[in-house]
Amino acid sequence: MEKQQMYVNGKWIGSVGKQWIKTKNPATGEVLAEVPRGTKEDVDAAVKVARETFESEEWQSFLPIERGRILHKVADALRADAEKIALLETLDTGKPLTQARKDVEAAALYFEYYAGMADKIFGETIPVQPGILDYTLREPIGVTAHIVPWNYPLQILSRSTAAAIATGNTIVAKPAEDTPLTAIKLAEILDGTHLPKGVFNLVTGYGAEAGAAISEHPGVDHITFTGSVQTGSAVMMGAAKNVKPVTLELGGKSPNIIFEDCDQEEAADWAVRSIIQNAGQTCSAGSRLLVQQSIKDEFLKKVTVKMAAIQIGKGIDDLDLGPILNEKQFERILEFMTVAREEGATFLTGGEREKKAGLEHGYFFQPTVIDGLAPGSYVAQEEIFAPVVVAFSFETEQQAVELANGTDYGLVAGIWTKDGARAHRVASKIRAGQIFINNYGAGGGVQMPFGGYKKSGFGREKGLEALRNYTILKNVALKY
Ligand code: NAD
Repeated sequence: MEKQQMYVNGKWIGSVGKQWIKTKNPATGEVLAEVPRGTKEDVDAAVKVARETFESEEWQSFLPIERGRILHKVADALRADAEKIALLETLDTGKPLTQARKDVEAAALYFEYYAGMADKIFGETIPVQPGILDYTLREPIGVTAHIVPWNYPLQILSRSTAAAIATGNTIVAKPAEDTPLTAIKLAEILDGTHLPKGVFNLVTGYGAEAGAAISEHPGVDHITFTGSVQTGSAVMMGAAKNVKPVTLELGGKSPNIIFEDCDQEEAADWAVRSIIQNAGQTCSAGSRLLVQQSIKDEFLKKVTVKMAAIQIGKGIDDLDLGPILNEKQFERILEFMTVAREEGATFLTGGEREKKAGLEHGYFFQPTVIDGLAPGSYVAQEEIFAPVVVAFSFETEQQAVELANGTDYGLVAGIWTKDGARAHRVASKIRAGQIFINNYGAGGGVQMPFGGYKKSGFGREKGLEALRNYTILKNVALKY
């Protein structure tokens, strides 16, 4: 691949600054392509187009069912080209092909799911008093901005784009600078439908430049952001200047809580999967293991054996674990390991760069299980974004809940027990947006609302809940 372009008003363009960003394959360090380094001026132009298109007669009178038909076409196009798109995602992010294929299918499912909703967005009638007809309208919010991270580039862009188009908005999207290629592919697919030009616009570029310009733009009506707490907070401050709403999905330090009566084999399998998927670079990764003291040694042994058996390789080799995204993230993980040692960690397995032959040029990190840290320690509290799980033990249900709730995050928790009453009791006490009982992920269903408590963010993506982000409510009262 060579130079790629941005997509604004149905046209493929470079940036006004005429500069480029290289995107690399994290498995080899090779340059895959160059994309325009979008500037504030590029963002201004894209927002202007999105605003004019939003207000245009064509888009305002576009039938909801027709929006749905377009979304169905996008789902079909993603599936028709799934193998090529998965390969592109694998090369750009490093993830194993099987995982990239699942991402493409999930992207198609988002378009399909929200396609069905396009003509089913209702208001309500509200009884007020005789002689007054009061009703609500759920209108599109306007120009929506989508700032996308690098861990699930196609999936995350698809989930919010599908919901935003279904509800009649226009879009300015920015993929992460490291992983822009499948976003460009999605723009190509949308370009091949009868979606009016200017509804979907894609600006590539750096976060501090194009991303910040989007966050602070007075012409944007809503921002959805997925990424780090620090950047999410910056996006929120930018949006606050113009009093614009944001939806923030900011990662976590999610626990798998293992009670002594659980199916240990299954729980151990999922504990491993939940931290290995996408090399642990998943906001909902199961990055803490809370194990009942009576089975701690036995259970950690099972997990350690499974982690040590994980096969590591390039995404295209399609083994269990691919590389970390880039050097910055890799160095960050090494720093975490240094701190863990200083904090008194015991490494049950891993903790180092993977030295397997053929992987020298990529950012490969060993699957790692850490024990012996204090629950309040830095490594036990912060999101590492790596195939690294930290283990703790508890005696009582109450202690399990306290440990689970004992970080600033609250995205996901897994509960493993055969005692149904206990499962629901614990689920009710955990401050997290999504609880899985005797599973972790439930197949990733696009139908399930997803988002955080505490510093994991607010607002919900996925499911019908996400439609609230992309609509604004109007109340109308008529006297008769
Ligand atoms: P980041 O949050 O900085 O990047 C995410 C997106 O935000 C990218 O598109 C980036 O270009 C954009 N961005 C960056 N700075 C911006 C700014 N000032 N204004 C507007 N947009 C901006 O993430 P990172 O630095 O690439 O990764 C650091 C850590 O963030 C990771 O180690 C991980 O802990 C966390 N993270 C979480 C998720 C998640 O899914 N929740 C995804 C990516 C990263």
